[in-house]
Amino acid sequence: MSEIIEPLVIAPVDTKCVVLLVDDQTMIGEALRRMLVSEADIEYHYCQAAEHALAMAVQLKPTVILQDIVMPESDGLSLLKEYRTASQTRSVPVIMLSTRDDPRYKSQAFAAGASDYLVKIPDQIELIARIRAHSRSYLAQLQRDEAFRQLHAVQRQLEASNRELHRISCQDGLTGIYNRRHFDTYLDQEWSRALREGSNISLVLADIDYFKTFNDHYGHLAGDECLQRVARVFREVLQRPGDLAARYGGEEFVVVLPKTDLEGAAVIAESIRIRVERLSITHEFSKVEKWVTLSVGIATVRPNPRMRPPELVGLADKALYQAKQNGRNRCEQARSNLDELAMLHNRNTKTEGDN
Ligand code: GH3
Ligand code: MG
Ligand code: MG
Repeated sequence: MSEIIEPLVIAPVDTKCVVLLVDDQTMIGEALRRMLVSEADIEYHYCQAAEHALAMAVQLKPTVILQDIVMPESDGLSLLKEYRTASQTRSVPVIMLSTRDDPRYKSQAFAAGASDYLVKIPDQIELIARIRAHSRSYLAQLQRDEAFRQLHAVQRQLEASNRELHRISCQDGLTGIYNRRHFDTYLDQEWSRALREGSNISLVLADIDYFKTFNDHYGHLAGDECLQRVARVFREVLQRPGDLAARYGGEEFVVVLPKTDLEGAAVIAESIRIRVERLSITHEFSKVEKWVTLSVGIATVRPNPRMRPPELVGLADKALYQAKQNGRNRCEQARSNLDELAMLHNRNTKTEGDN
């Protein structure tokens, strides 16, 4: 598996409130400091100059900003817009502080993104309660965001693992080409397509000649290596994206060739046979040649609703048997079309007889 899924770990919410007051009047700064100093869960910071406010907020990561509305160089509403624009402060709660209890000021402040509005100098109990409430909901929001981020990361890892699992489940462990399981699925799928489109589908079934004696004389490891080299030929010889080679069984390989007629399949089969010969893998105990060879069966059908995919495999298998019978190291074609005509003929004769 390419990735290990880490357990989801969410840090507990830090309940400490970090307050940044931005106000040009030091007297206000001092008054609020006194109100908050004895609260163990509140850490208080003060910024007098508007031009330093954003940088200080970015650095301190406050859980609440207390923002004066009227300041000499820059008004509090412009600063509020800056907080709402900067990514680090976008969602930090901002409580506006104003000397005026005026609805127009309030609505302007809320429209600009303020979280709350207090008239200066606020009541101590109210100030502390609001600081705590805003801080807690902000920290809870951060925790939720982090949980979602981790959840998405885990989901992505899971998806990647599933893709990897699927790939492994389709692959033959020894040769790296597709396995029998995937071949069966793929043949079914291409069979249905051929049925829908009225097209041909071909199969090439190949078997290494005298492979048992190869194993007996050169050992199982050499046998495995031989299978790997032969499999590589199958992989390399196929050109079209729809063509698929798989290990069918021990020393048998199969190729699915959608939209391919018997003639085209024969060309590919012969090319595979020749390339395997050219590997020149010594096999002194073969009765055909002094090197490893293949016998190959080829079959083509245009599927109809009365046929099933195993019939195509059966036809290719019969042709392979013929290749073995005819002396091995050769390709033989199944006489599928003639068989089909014969079947049709038999059926028609039977129907006529019935009438
Ligand atoms: P024929 O020409 O008639 O095909 O003869 P054969 O000896 O190739 O046929 P047979 O089916 O009797 O032997 C197949 C051999 O393939 C048997 C087994 O030793 C070998 N074989 C099957 N799977 C593997 C494998 O994964 N690794 C190795 N090394 N050998 C395998
Ligand atoms: Mg065999
Ligand atoms: Mg064999």
